[in-house]
Amino acid sequence: MSEDIANELRRKGLKVTPQRLAIMKIILRNGHYNGEQIYEELKKTEPSISLSTVYNTLETLKDAGLVNSFEANGMKWYEAKVEPHVNVFCIDMNEIIDMEVNVGSMVRDIQERGIDVKSLNIVVYADCSKLKVQK
Ligand SMILES: [Zn+2]
Repeated sequence: MSEDIANELRRKGLKVTPQRLAIMKIILRNGHYNGEQIYEELKKTEPSISLSTVYNTLETLKDAGLVNSFEANGMKWYEAKVEPHVNVFCIDMNEIIDMEVNVGSMVRDIQERGIDVKSLNIVVYADCSKLKVQK
């Protein structure tokens, strides 16, 4: 997996560094993480890493198009899913889940008005307790 990530970094024109590899590995677990969570996770294996390094690395990865970021509940979140989708913030669980809905037509509508859409982030705040019962 490390070699795949390294190739992906190179393909985007980024140098392969241990920090970038380690952060990509966490992000690729397909969850939604804030900078603090990634920092806490990384500290276990790399005690010398700083929070600002984590944030700088995340922003570099985002600029390269490898991760998506958005704001929810007053925090910035990062994820591996870069395709437009809806993020549902479950207030009761303090957790974010991905929802596949047709946001493509929304993007096309906006583009038809001459706006060059760079990114689209929709956050829905919800009570997911009922969802949990269904599972
Ligand atoms: Zn998401």
